[in-house]
Amino acid sequence: MKGIGVSPGIAVGKAILHKNKETEIYKKEIKDIEKEIEKLKNALSESKDQIKELYEKTKNEVGEDEAEIFRAHMMILDDPEIFGKAEKKIYEMKVNAEWALKEVSNMFVEIFRNMDNEYMRERAADIIDVTGRVINNLMGSKSGNLFIPEEGGIIVAKDLTPSDTAQMDKEKILGLITEEGGKTSHSAIMARSLEIPAVVGTGKEIESIRSGDILAFDGDEGTIHINPAQETLRSCMDKKEDYETLKNKLKSFIGKKSRTKDGYEVEISANIGTPDDMDSVLKHDAEGIGLYRTEFLYMDRDTLPTEDEQFEAYKKVAEKMEGKPVIIRTLDVGGDKDLPYLNLPNEENPFLGYRAIRICLDQTDIFKTQLRAIVRASAYGDIKLMFPMISGMEELKKAKKILKTVKEELVNEHIYFNENMKVGMMIEIPSAAIMSDIFAKEVDFFSIGTNDLIQYTTAVDRGNKDIAHLYNKFHPAVLRLIKIVVENGHKEGIQVGMCGESAGDPDMIPLLIGMGLDELSMSPVTILKARQIISELKMKEMEKKAQQAANCFM
Ligand code: PEP
Ligand code: MG
Repeated sequence: MKGIGVSPGIAVGKAILHKNKETEIYKKEIKDIEKEIEKLKNALSESKDQIKELYEKTKNEVGEDEAEIFRAHMMILDDPEIFGKAEKKIYEMKVNAEWALKEVSNMFVEIFRNMDNEYMRERAADIIDVTGRVINNLMGSKSGNLFIPEEGGIIVAKDLTPSDTAQMDKEKILGLITEEGGKTSHSAIMARSLEIPAVVGTGKEIESIRSGDILAFDGDEGTIHINPAQETLRSCMDKKEDYETLKNKLKSFIGKKSRTKDGYEVEISANIGTPDDMDSVLKHDAEGIGLYRTEFLYMDRDTLPTEDEQFEAYKKVAEKMEGKPVIIRTLDVGGDKDLPYLNLPNEENPFLGYRAIRICLDQTDIFKTQLRAIVRASAYGDIKLMFPMISGMEELKKAKKILKTVKEELVNEHIYFNENMKVGMMIEIPSAAIMSDIFAKEVDFFSIGTNDLIQYTTAVDRGNKDIAHLYNKFHPAVLRLIKIVVENGHKEGIQVGMCGESAGDPDMIPLLIGMGLDELSMSPVTILKARQIISELKMKEMEKKAQQAANCFM
């Protein structure tokens, strides 16, 4: 059986079926409307107290960000749309409160489930959770804690509401499997934070699992073995042991410098898409944020984010990093990242087209709003600004000129910011790499974006699976360009980092160290592994290896 692996780790244990209790609700005619409304209000206030308690419990036991979901639940409780409509139904139809609320809840759940956006679809689960709680309180039935045997087990459920997850005894939960849900469902988010292996979205096949069945699965890959043969079981147990050993070994790298055996130090930082990634960044001990892909702030919505919305997001990240560097990249949409409300043109070659800085230099209002937000946030930490997709000097000069205007405006408005905020550029287009000697005189740092640099250097679309075998990060031409950029950057005394996927690749790291990169930015979960790899390398040897690799012929 296969699902979507959403929380890594190997789970082996007995199945514990968690029935999502669907209470039968009957429509009843009522005489005393006022009393029924009063009943609903009491149930609402009881629910509020319970959710507050879950908020505190989750905040103390898991973390503030995970507890946020219960704040959202409190907002649903205050939503006049849902509960106002239920009240109206009671008045107009003279019906019992639980039936009225169930009807309204079904209607909203249907609306959310039919939305295009995955995130919004998954919010249907929150409405079910909150209204289900109120209905339980109306009917006096409490949803008790799930019994989990001493030896622990793997929870198997249709879906898990945040309330279910918060009430579970985490020590004994070896894994989670759900029929519904996706990567951003709350059970998935919770599982990742709690480091419980989880597979979601199995579909109806989950019904073949019986209570007490032996289950084994890999929370990364998503395949679930039900009552596996002895051999499979043994191999899963071995994998589990290896995984745990590695995890503990990697934990010992928390708080350490990223340094080779012979003392060469690099900075290992994290790539993020939203402030929600910060828990993982802090947990995996990133030394900075090497790439904040701001475009996610602009996605999954119908209008551009305001300056204040952006400012709050950037400020939050800067504050959470407590003075460590945070590289914020200006908007990089176009290519494979569409923003429907911008009406980007349909292009023959979107990756060679209207994209990133090209859009920003054309639609300067959008650009200026973002620059204002970033510059304002620079007062709250070590924020650095980075321009993507620079292909020629004129673009860089224009971008810097707009930045200068924005700073002047803020000075005139008496808004405080860091006047010395560093400004850098991505090197992800061969023309920029080749001209990096000139660019290095104009910026404070470079960050090499190998995801694009590889595709533009070798003319291989990064998203085309038919030619994926040609997309080669070890192509000597790519390695030579990286080397040129590092040398040119260092000649001018600026930092040269890398934020493309290559930076976190275990096989690439030795070469990057050998080429002298100052910073490697990667997905937070790979940071400790990278630090471990680096601790076993010798700079002198890696220099030779890098030289050999750049000189080899394909
Ligand atoms: C890159 O091109 O390497 C990069 C980091 O940018 P993105 O993947 O967002 O295009
Ligand atoms: Mg790129």
